[in-house]
Amino acid sequence: MTSADPLAPALPSPLAELRDNRFSRQGVRLLLKRDDLIHPELIGNKWRKLVPNIEAARGRTLVTFGGAYSNHLRATAAAGRLLGLPTIGVVRGDELAGRPLNPSLARCAADGMRLHFTDRATYRRKSEPETMAALLRAARAEGAYVVPEGGSNAEAVRGCVALGEELAGCAEVVAVACGTGGTLAGLAAGLAPGQRAIGVPVLKGGFLAAEVSALQERAFGARTGDWHLEERFHFGGYARTTPELDAFAADFEERHGVPVERLYVAKLLFALTTLAGEGAFPRGTAVAAVITGHPFPDSTF
Ligand SMILES: *Cc1c(COP(=O)(O)O)cnc(C)c1O
Repeated sequence: MTSADPLAPALPSPLAELRDNRFSRQGVRLLLKRDDLIHPELIGNKWRKLVPNIEAARGRTLVTFGGAYSNHLRATAAAGRLLGLPTIGVVRGDELAGRPLNPSLARCAADGMRLHFTDRATYRRKSEPETMAALLRAARAEGAYVVPEGGSNAEAVRGCVALGEELAGCAEVVAVACGTGGTLAGLAAGLAPGQRAIGVPVLKGGFLAAEVSALQERAFGARTGDWHLEERFHFGGYARTTPELDAFAADFEERHGVPVERLYVAKLLFALTTLAGEGAFPRGTAVAAVITGHPFPDSTF
């Protein structure tokens, strides 16, 4: 990449140790892998997942899919603006079409993404080829390069292997919040023997382990690496929160001066703090938490 490349990343992302007595009193070290600092606009795992797809698209329009608060839609729209590439976002929920855009979708539109709203039933069935074809026709996106919902395909998963490799030898345990699980799938494949990965799903449903395995099979031909999911920390599902989680996240920001993204990273850090308190990590363990994003709208940090 040349220095004029608007997507040029700062890699490897920094790894910083925090002093947090909820971990240290258990003899556990907490490290933050600051993937939120890779690129100012393609944040965290979104850079790692999208750039290989942008290369595969070779200048074609990008079409992708997401909910009303999708970090992935915003990242795709930002990449489109930076590269001068047309982007189309298929948004779940046709009831949103007649309303003012929320701040996340407004940012997508301001970045030049053309938004197409679709009903939830169609959106849910888009894994069926005929439904997808009809949806792309309705969105006037035939011929565009399709990036799946959440950006997770084989290219994206392979793009996240480097995240695991950057952490090789740095920590016994590496943990990441999961939406589609693509980041975990790639990360786990890049770790060294003896390291293990924990995924913290932010959606409820218990379907994710099968999806992570399927993504690894597509990207690498087999289930790869030592990983498992901690399913207790979804707080009711995607974009759901509780006063306890909000207070935890605000307190973490206060203690450490690190902005805490609320849809994913807050649940990850809450999960690790709970697990440490339960004695889930042997004394002497170093745990690296992947900071996959930063708050939207931007926090004051
Ligand atoms: C998209 C996103 C994730 C989830 O990544 P998957 O690969 O879909 O599991 C995690 N954290 C943040 C901040 C994200 O924006």
